[in-house]
Amino acid sequence: VVSAQKICKSFGRLDVLKGIDLEVHEREVLCLIGPSGSGKSTLLRCINHLEKIDAGRLYVDGVLVGYRQRGDKLHELRENEVAEQRKDIGMVFQRFNLFPHMTALENVTEAPIQVRKEPKAKARQRAMELLDRVGLADKAKNYPAQLSGGQQQRVAIARALAMEPKLMLFDEPTSALDPELVGDVLAVMRQLAKDGMTMVVVTHEMQFAKEVADTVVFMDGGVAVETGPAAQVIGNPQHERTKAFLARVL
Ligand code: ATP
Ligand code: MG
Repeated sequence: VVSAQKICKSFGRLDVLKGIDLEVHEREVLCLIGPSGSGKSTLLRCINHLEKIDAGRLYVDGVLVGYRQRGDKLHELRENEVAEQRKDIGMVFQRFNLFPHMTALENVTEAPIQVRKEPKAKARQRAMELLDRVGLADKAKNYPAQLSGGQQQRVAIARALAMEPKLMLFDEPTSALDPELVGDVLAVMRQLAKDGMTMVVVTHEMQFAKEVADTVVFMDGGVAVETGPAAQVIGNPQHERTKAFLARVL
């Protein structure tokens, strides 16, 4: 579903991604781990073209992200064409960014009604199913301020799922949560993975990565230092930098 080839990204003189290769197949979960500033969020944002890459090729579901190829020239897509591509990609951030003036239910139905022009009744019914799936059917009428951080994050997941994405991107979805709320969110993500969703997850939850990820990529300094099955990268890392990082976080 995701194929990244030699992705490079700089901010001014700062090279944040230095030639990243990445493959995520359908129904697979890839976890990105690594120290702060290593480029994990930037890479994730490149996948849905929130950041423009400077070099390399990035495909989601076989489609070039952000560009159209004519001959050997690349033409940047217009904003509405990029938006069209993003419809298939769900994203959940560290900070739950729900619409504060809408209930949980309205947050979930917003995009299907506005973007996909779904009939309201159908969108509502589907939103209720999704809220039920994340364990919040009884909170449908609550506003974000009336929900805990973990509940808000689960609404955010339901909202992303409402667009029936082919790919879900998570950027440290639990790191802003109180410890006792982390488990519920990870449980929802675990179930999503079991149901066959293709996912790229930036996380510091090594136990989750070990259990759920098919592939783990350890990033450091804008480079994918070590890539492999979760059990190998986390359980038996080969590179000194991976070992040093894991020694600090485990
Ligand atoms: P963390 O674990 O702290 O979230 P990260 O691995 O997600 O870190 P990024 O957010 O991808 O790291 O940032 C990588 C580097 O790029 C950092 O040095 C950061 O300061 C820089 N950076 C990120 N976004 C921008 C931007 N919009 N403009 C300039 N520099 C940026
Ligand atoms: Mg980050």
